[in-house]
Amino acid sequence: MGWLDAEKITNNERENGGRRAMYPCPACGTENGVHRDRCRCGADLSLLKTLDGLVNAWFNRGRKALEEEKTGEALEWFSACCAARPLDAALRRIQARMWVRLGRREEAESSLRRAESLEPGAPELTEIREALREAKEGHGHGEGEG
Ligand SMILES: [Zn+2]
Repeated sequence: MGWLDAEKITNNERENGGRRAMYPCPACGTENGVHRDRCRCGADLSLLKTLDGLVNAWFNRGRKALEEEKTGEALEWFSACCAARPLDAALRRIQARMWVRLGRREEAESSLRRAESLEPGAPELTEIREALREAKEGHGHGEGEG
């Protein structure tokens, strides 16, 4: 189907890099950009910078796994990225794509809801939902509604 190709993921990555990543301060919860060394509350944020570099490395490994058609492995890397960047909607959408690809509808829905709450109205949400609907039709059985 091609709705999930490396090119799309690359676009997502670009989108990721374009927007400055934000992190909640581990001490007080205030959102800080990665460029800050210290939070308003005084907490040292330099570790978050290190984490940012780490997340980029994880993202690349996920993309590589995806290129090798190892969706499960890719999902692990992208999920790690999501955990490290809880406010990143693009990552959450990628995670949703992985779940759809694996045919895990409930998990896909859950990731989609989180992505939507982070960035409502992102055009990609529609696309992922459509893919999810196709996956539903493909598998057929709905396990009781609601
Ligand atoms: Zn703080």
